[in-house]
Amino acid sequence: MSKISSNKENFVVPLLLPKRLAAIQRVLLRWYAEKGRDLPWRHTRDPYKVLVSEIMLQQTQVDRVIPKYQAFLKAFPTVEKLARARRSRVIQCWAGLGYNRRAVYLHEAAKKVLRDFDGVMPITIDALRTLPGVGDYTAGAVAAFTGGSKTAFLDTNIKRVLGRLFFNTKKKRLPAEKKLAEYAQSLVPTKKDEAYFWHHAHMDLGALVCTAAKPKCETCPLKRVCPFPLFRDTIKKSHYAKPQPTFKNSDRFWRGRILDAVRRKKRGVTLGYLKSILVIPPTRAEKITQGLIRDGLVVRIGSTLSLPE
Ligand code: SF4
Repeated sequence: MSKISSNKENFVVPLLLPKRLAAIQRVLLRWYAEKGRDLPWRHTRDPYKVLVSEIMLQQTQVDRVIPKYQAFLKAFPTVEKLARARRSRVIQCWAGLGYNRRAVYLHEAAKKVLRDFDGVMPITIDALRTLPGVGDYTAGAVAAFTGGSKTAFLDTNIKRVLGRLFFNTKKKRLPAEKKLAEYAQSLVPTKKDEAYFWHHAHMDLGALVCTAAKPKCETCPLKRVCPFPLFRDTIKKSHYAKPQPTFKNSDRFWRGRILDAVRRKKRGVTLGYLKSILVIPPTRAEKITQGLIRDGLVVRIGSTLSLPE
């Protein structure tokens, strides 16, 4: 690495000499071969299965996703089976994962694949981006893990690793997303299979070693090229500590409560019953219920809420 510097207004993008870059790639790929996570969705290049995993992994821990991923694929083994399933069954299957709107998105995505792609899952970033609930990161990941795309994609873990490795992260600032993506792209190995493993390696380093709260620099394969350990002790605690919004009693908490109640009763629940189990003002409960209806997670007929068919 020839230079790492920054000033108040602009980030100076560090130049990586080809030899140095090759060394970083070699070290990280070797580390991944030894220590990378063995995850069920890494045993397949089926774009439907990888899409399911990527949607489930949005804002959800890997350990929670694994059993749900397996159960979901057992219930809906192909994109066609999912597209033809009842919405209520898909929502039932999503129980325990949270962020339930993802179930609706996934169902809608499968329907779109059947309708607009003749039932064949797309594997290019542009086509994947047209599916409901699929953003830049998910499209990039699915394209890379199934279609061999070498386009870099950014998630929180990857951004953090890049920030600590190559930019002045003392102030917890990063270059603009576009610049960061270009930089991430410049690191991707050009060989196809190496690019595939590189994406996984980068993600795993962020998830296992270069973690948000306690980076394990002492055991990191990149400690010799990373400047972060040098100024680590001078960094403010706020770099690590992320204030988490309280989940209990949040709207998301009560959304989950209402939806769980509806899931439990095949014939739906009455608003009166909901009132008896919710300890929040009726106006708030109504607002949250409206959100669930808008998101396609419940339907209201008269005074009964149930899962959509
Ligand atoms: S040395 Fe520390 S900060 Fe740098 S990449 Fe490794 S874990 Fe992250």
